Formats: sequence, structure tokens, C-alpha cells
Amino acid sequence: MNPFTFVPVEDVPGALWLAGESTSFIAGGTNLIDLMKVSVLRPARLLDINRLGLDAIEPTANGGVRLGALARNAATAWHPLVRERYPLLATAILAGATAQIRNMATNGGNLLQRTRCCYFYDIATPCNKRQPGSGCSAMGSLARQHAILGASAHCVATHPSDMCVALAALEATVQVVSPRGERTIPFADFHRLPGDRPDLDTTLAHDELIVALTLPPADGFRAHSVYLKLRERLSYAFALVSVAAALDLDLDGGIIRAARLALGGVAHKPWRDPAAEALLAGQPAKEASFVRAADALLQGAVPQGAGEGSNAFKIPLARRAIVRALALATAGTVTQHAEDAP
Ligand SMILES: Cc1cc2nc3c(=O)[nH]c(=O)nc-3n(C[C@H](O)[C@H](O)[C@H](O)COP(=O)(O)OP(=O)(O)OC[C@H]3O[C@@H](n4cnc5c(N)ncnc54)[C@H](O)[C@@H]3O)c2cc1C
Ligand code: SF4
Repeated sequence: MNPFTFVPVEDVPGALWLAGESTSFIAGGTNLIDLMKVSVLRPARLLDINRLGLDAIEPTANGGVRLGALARNAATAWHPLVRERYPLLATAILAGATAQIRNMATNGGNLLQRTRCCYFYDIATPCNKRQPGSGCSAMGSLARQHAILGASAHCVATHPSDMCVALAALEATVQVVSPRGERTIPFADFHRLPGDRPDLDTTLAHDELIVALTLPPADGFRAHSVYLKLRERLSYAFALVSVAAALDLDLDGGIIRAARLALGGVAHKPWRDPAAEALLAGQPAKEASFVRAADALLQGAVPQGAGEGSNAFKIPLARRAIVRALALATAGTVTQHAEDAP
């Protein structure tokens, strides 16, 4: 690991004053320190933001909830307001990592965790995300974890977060501050597709600090939501494909009034297409409707990798997962297992 200075900061203005090039904020450290250990990231200075507060979870005046950027993932998932109003988010968070990591990981850090592309972590291999212009080792090679949607000729990595898939479906917003002031970023605009700048995961500037996430009211979706995560093993693994599905059904439960659908593990950002959701509105909550929405959401899907390293299996897997998640959501909200309780 490269040498660095470690600076605890006591307040937000102090953090912003010191932020800049070669400096990284450190929250839970569960991703940043791993990347520093393998020399993928080499900040000269770490600003420890854990004393800034910013960990409140509180209701908003319009019936939503504001999540502090420094609230731990576990505290967020088990908070009564989140469990009651956003079971989709609670379930998605608890599908990620392990209890120990969720106790340490923060909401802001979760949004900014880097891809799990194995070549990104291996500094002996070319990787445009780690070293712009060096090439992409995943293309035509081992790419089981990689993207089927929204990839570019420069990068086929996926965003690994579970929490972010639910946040996308719930249309969260991200509140950030910088020396230039405050701004609010709609979740759909926070993460970016790789294009010709795969080194940039998000639209956040280097000196911007995430202070909170805000969830708008989602009462209509509360009774019929599911986070379905498919992975190589049942814990301690990132999603091959995941689906956040939420339905607002009419009183008989037969017709869909509105739908939210987001995919994880398939693109450089949580994958959502309002046109696919619109196809579900006004339709019976039946398999034929779900299949139409799945096909729309997966339109343009392209496999990556070659031979046994190909991820072509992800396209039919994602299609079946979408249909399954919508069927489960129709039957009623699925929450986390009792054995996950703290
Ligand atoms: C073994 C293992 C398994 C995992 N499995 C999963 C999984 O299945 N699903 C899943 O979703 N995640 C998984 N994770 C990832 C984990 O959720 C993230 O590492 C964690 O959420 C990152 O949060 P953190 O607070 O530790 O971030 P840090 O490591 O502290 O920071 C990550 C990045 O965010 C920046 N940052 C942090 N807070 C802020 C802020 N407030 N404003 C601006 N920048 C900020 C840091 O500068 C850094 O660049 C796993 C991690 C490990 C180690
Ligand atoms: S897919 Fe992206 S992160 Fe992975 S090797 Fe290629 S450029 Fe790097």
C-alpha cells in the first residue's frame, strides 16, 4: 500500500476545504481500503468523515424518508421507517455482503463502491477504468460477471451494488455539497454508462460530498415488492442478475396500476427503462404481461466474453428473473429472512 496521511475531519466545511485531487473521503472503508491494498487506488490523503454526523434516518414532510450518507447499511435496513415504508430497500441491502460488512458500510460509500471486474483489481492487466487508454481485458475473455446492457467498446463492467438497484426503482435522490454549494441528483443521473470515459463511474465531482439520500413516498408499492438476487452462492457473493420489482395493484390485485422495475448485475449502473414499466400499467398481473415487460427491459442486450467465460447465459437468466420477481411481487412483499435479524 502506498503511504498516505489520515486526517479526521470534524465538520462538513472542514471536509470540503480539504477535499480535492489525490484526496479521498473514507467512510466505512470496506471498499476503499481493499482497493488501496492492491494499489488500484493510491490517494495521498484520506479524510475520515465518520465524525461528521450525517447518520440520521428521519421522515420527510411529504411522507418520504431521508437517509444520512453516514448511516450504516445495517442501521438503514433495520430502521423501522425503512422496514415499514420501503421493504424493497431493506431487503436489497440485506441481500448484500455479510452482516459484519453491512455494520461498517455506509449509504454514501455503497453508492460509490467500484466494480468487481477481476481485471480492475489486477494491476498486471490492462483496464480502461483503472488506467484510461490501456485496453479492456474482459472483452473476448472471462466475463461471467460483466454487462449485457449499456456497455461500450471501452468497458463492459457492472455496478455491483444491491442497495442501488432498489434506490433506482424507488426513484431516490442524492444530496451533495461542495465548495460550490448544494445540489440534488436524481438517482437515474447519479451513475453513468461507461462510454469513452469508463474511469468515471458517476456524475459526482471529486470534491463533492454525499450528505444524504431522499426517498419519495412509495406507499402504493409497499404491499407488492421484491428484491430477487441470483448469484453463484447464497452469501458473500455479488449478483449475476438481480431484480427490484414493485407493483401498485388495484384493490382486487388483478390489474397493475403502476410498476417499477430495475436490474442489477447487468450494466454499469442500475438498469431501468420507464418504457418497460409503462407496458405493465393497466395490464393484468399475469405472466404474459411480465414477459412483455422483461423483453422490453432487455431490448438490446448483448453478451460479452468468450467460450466458458461468456455471459450469454445472463440474458435468459435475466428474463426469467424479471418474470419470477414480478410474479412474487404480485403475491405480496417478500422480506428478509428471520435469521438475518440483528
Ligand atoms: C467481501 C465483500 C462482499 C461484498 N458484497 C456485496 C454485495 O453482495 N452487495 C453489495 O451491494 N455490496 C457488497 N459489498 C460492498 C459493500 O457494500 C461496500 O464496500 C460498501 O457499501 C462501501 O461503503 P463504505 O462506507 O465502506 O465505503 P468506503 O470504502 O469508505 O468508500 C467507498 C468510496 O466512496 C467514497 N465515499 C464514501 N462516503 C462518501 C460520501 N459521503 N461522499 C462522497 N464520497 C464518499 C470514498 O471516497 C470511496 O471512494 C461487499 C464488500 C466486501 C468487502
Ligand atoms: S470491463 Fe471495464 S473494469 Fe473490467 S477490464 Fe474492462 S475496462 Fe477494466
